[in-house]
Amino acid sequence: MIVMKIELDNNSAPSLKDFIEKNDIHGVGFDLDSTLLDTTRYYDLAFIMTGMAVAEMTKSSVPNEEIAIEIRNTAREIFVENGNKPIPLTELCHMAISRYRSEEFAIEADSVVNEVLSFFYVESPELYPKTEEVLKYLKSFNLPVIVHSHSQQEWMDVKMSMIKDKTGIEFPYLATDISMEKDSESWKRAASLLNLDVSEMLIVGDSLKSDIIPALEAGCKYVVWLNHFGKELPEELKGRVYVIEKIEDLLYL
Ligand SMILES: [Mg+2]
Repeated sequence: MIVMKIELDNNSAPSLKDFIEKNDIHGVGFDLDSTLLDTTRYYDLAFIMTGMAVAEMTKSSVPNEEIAIEIRNTAREIFVENGNKPIPLTELCHMAISRYRSEEFAIEADSVVNEVLSFFYVESPELYPKTEEVLKYLKSFNLPVIVHSHSQQEWMDVKMSMIKDKTGIEFPYLATDISMEKDSESWKRAASLLNLDVSEMLIVGDSLKSDIIPALEAGCKYVVWLNHFGKELPEELKGRVYVIEKIEDLLYL
């Protein structure tokens, strides 16, 4: 298989159904955060809101916006250092504030931060603009779909219920708790919820570590990397993964 860069041609009809039939694919597995949902933006909003509230407390001459951006960047940094694994948000913000200023200050800010972030796990990030179209397309020929997220069960319930309200479609789903690894075993479990083997599925996700590599290890032959930021595909994955830059590019696989 050669690595495919999907060139989107807006005038042509989606080719995904042909791809699925030609390759005898019986189901699709989606990651949720930053694959179907714009979770990156949702986190950014939370970081900036936290940063603005914390800036209020510093009584510094630096503009609040600058402090907020600094705290957001620090939070992003810590997230990457942690191997992009989910960290409970209040904990992550505490770490960022502590690094930005001091542990004492972070402790002092905790109650304000908790208050500011109280919305976070009771609401859901938005769908990407074209997610609904992709999900409805798959539904139009009754292809089984499973959503597998690295997330607390309760928050995944909130997100899946939003998807149901927005699209009118209810999908089976699996939450792998953030205290566990999202790995080849958890992807196999997700497939088994559709009574399928991973080798019969198409798997789509934005994380090399939690989606792409584990799906390949589990025996998936059709793995799609949603590469939002146009990063280089690691050498060892070349020829084994389809690369798209937007969720809607999946329609033209
Ligand atoms: Mg993701």
